[in-house]
Amino acid sequence: MSVSTSACSHLGEVAVRELPAEVAGCEDCLRSGGKWLHLRICLTCGHVGCCDDSPNRHATAHNHETSHPLIRSLEPGEDWSWCYADDVAMIIEGVTGETRIPPSPLLQ
Ligand SMILES: [Zn+2]
Ligand SMILES: [Zn+2]
Ligand SMILES: [Zn+2]
Repeated sequence: MSVSTSACSHLGEVAVRELPAEVAGCEDCLRSGGKWLHLRICLTCGHVGCCDDSPNRHATAHNHETSHPLIRSLEPGEDWSWCYADDVAMIIEGVTGETRIPPSPLLQ
C-alpha cells in the first residue's frame, strides 16, 4: 500500500477487486427514472450510485443506508477512491479493471 492510503483504516473491507466491464448507470436512478452526473461504485458490495453533484446523490445515500465506507470513481481516466468514514480520498492499489459507462443523462 502506498503512503497515501494510511489515513484510511477500511482497506480490509474492500471486497470488489475487479471492476465490472460495463455498467448501465446508477442503479437507483435507473430504477426511479432519475438522472446522474458521475458514477461511483461501492467497493464493499459493488453497488453503482451517482456522485454528490447528481440530484439524488445515490452513492452517498448507499453509504448512509449500509455504512459501506469506500467508493471508487467509475469515470473514464479516474482511479481515485473515497472513504466516507475517514473523509479521505486515495488511490487503492490492487483494484483492477476499467468500466465502460454510458454518457450522463444529465449532460445530454
Ligand atoms: Zn476508511
Ligand atoms: Zn443515482
Ligand atoms: Zn455497498
